[in-house]
Amino acid sequence: MKHVVIVGGGFAGLNCARKLAERPDVRVTLIDKNNYQQFQPLLYQVATAALSATNVAFSLRSVLRGHPNVDVKLGEVVSVDLKTHTVETAEGQQYQGDFLVLAAGSQANFFGTPGAAQHAYPLYSIHDAELLRSRILAVLESADRDPSLVAKGALNFVIVGGGPTGTELAGAFGDMARLGMKKTYDDLAVNKAQIFLVDKGHAVLGAFSEKAQTYAAKMLEQRGVQLRLGTSVKEVASGHVVLSDGTKILTHTAIWAGGLKASSLSGNAGVQTGHGGRLDVQPDLTVSGFAGVYALGDFANISGKDGKPLPQLASVAEQSGKWCARNIELDLVGEPRKPFQYFDKGIMAMIGRNSAVAEVGEHRHELQGAIAFAAWLGVHAALLTTSRAKVGAFVEWAWDYLGNVRSDPVLDRNEQAQINWNDDDEQLETAAASKA
Ligand SMILES: Cc1cc2nc3c(=O)[nH]c(=O)nc-3n(C[C@H](O)[C@H](O)[C@H](O)COP(=O)(O)OP(=O)(O)OC[C@H]3O[C@@H](n4cnc5c(N)ncnc54)[C@H](O)[C@@H]3O)c2cc1C
Repeated sequence: MKHVVIVGGGFAGLNCARKLAERPDVRVTLIDKNNYQQFQPLLYQVATAALSATNVAFSLRSVLRGHPNVDVKLGEVVSVDLKTHTVETAEGQQYQGDFLVLAAGSQANFFGTPGAAQHAYPLYSIHDAELLRSRILAVLESADRDPSLVAKGALNFVIVGGGPTGTELAGAFGDMARLGMKKTYDDLAVNKAQIFLVDKGHAVLGAFSEKAQTYAAKMLEQRGVQLRLGTSVKEVASGHVVLSDGTKILTHTAIWAGGLKASSLSGNAGVQTGHGGRLDVQPDLTVSGFAGVYALGDFANISGKDGKPLPQLASVAEQSGKWCARNIELDLVGEPRKPFQYFDKGIMAMIGRNSAVAEVGEHRHELQGAIAFAAWLGVHAALLTTSRAKVGAFVEWAWDYLGNVRSDPVLDRNEQAQINWNDDDEQLETAAASKA
C-alpha cells in the first residue's frame, strides 16, 4: 500500500486527502498544527462577532471519519526533506511517504513595516479572528465605561490593505457602527467612531473591474469608512499608526490585511523559494527535481493558462488539492501526470448589508448590490465544509439581518481588555526625554 504524507489540512490538503481516501490501495497521513480546518473567507465575520468560531472551523477527524486509510496527526511540521519525502514535527515525530504533498498555506506579510508585527492584528486564523474580536469588544467596553478614551483613539479602527479582506472588514465595521453598536452600548459615542481603510493602490478591490471598485468605494463611504488610497502605513505603534503622508491616527486597533507570504515552513524545505516565499511548481503541481513531491494552494506558485501565477484563492487551493490526488493516482498506475487546469468560477466580495460585488465566471459577468449580496451568502454557505456549519451560518446571518443581533459579542480573552490607554503619551515622553 502506497503512503501519502500531506502537510496542511486546509482547502488544498484536505481536498487532496478526501479524494485519496476513496482509494483502498493508498494510505494517507494528514498532518496539521491545528486539529481543524479553518474557513478563512469568513474569518472577518468571526472578528466582527457576526459568526462564532465554531461556524467556521471543522474538526479534521470528523470530516475524515469513515476513512480508515486516512490518519490525522496534530503537529507542527518544522523541517522537510524533499529527497526522502520525510517531514519532522516540533515534537520530533518523523513521517515518511512514497509521496509528499506540501499544502501549509500562508501567513501575514508585514513587509518589514516597523511595529506592524508587534502591534497590528493580522487575520489569517481562528486564533487571529478571536483575538481581534476581543480587542474590538475591549475598546468598545472601555469607551462605553469612560467616554474620555474616545480622544485617545478608542473608536478609531485602522484597516491596512484594501483587497477583499480589508474591504469586507471595513464594510462590516461600518455596518456595526451604524446598526449594531447603538443597540448594544447605551453610553457609547457611536457617532465618533472612525474607520480608516488604507491602501497604497489608488482603488479598493484591485483585482476587480473599475466599475466594481467605484461601487465598493461608494458603499464604503456611505458606511462612514474613510478611504486613504495612494497611501501606505509607515509605522504601527501600540496607540497609533503613521501614514506615508505624515498623518498620525490614534488607534488601539490596527488591522493588517496588507499582504501574504507562504507559511514559514517553506523556508525549511531546502529549496530556493519563489515569489511570496512560495514553492514554484511545474504545471502538474510537482516540485522540479524531486520525484513524488507536490506543492499546492497558497503554499505554491501555480501558473494559470496565460502563464501568470494564479491568485491565492480558496477555489485554486481546493481544485489543486483534487488535481494533485488525481496525478498521484496516475503516478500509481505509471501513466503521465496531467497539467493542472484551473476552472475559474469568478471572484466576489461583500461590502456590507445588501452590498456586494461579484464577477461570475471566466468572462467576469458583473453583479452588484442586493443580488451580489444574496449570491455571496449562498456561495459562502455552500462552500462551508459541513452541513451543520451551512445551517449554522444561515441562522446567524438571518438573526443579524432581520434583528441586527450579532452572535457572539463575548469578551472572552481578558488579555485583550488590558489596554494601556496612556501608551502614546508615554512614548512621546520617552522620545522627548531621549532628545533632551
Ligand atoms: C481573511 C481571509 C479571507 C479570504 N477570503 C477569501 C474569499 O473570500 N474567497 C477565496 O476564494 N479565498 C479567500 N481567501 C483565501 C483562501 O482562504 C486561501 O487561498 C486558502 O485558504 C488557501 O488554502 P490552502 O489549503 O492552501 O491553505 P490554508 O487554508 O491556509 O491551509 C493551510 C493549513 O496548513 C496548516 N499548517 C501551516 N503550517 C503548518 C506546519 N508547519 N505544520 C503543520 N500544519 C501547518 C494550517 O494550520 C492550515 O490548516 C481568504 C484568505 C484570508 C486570510
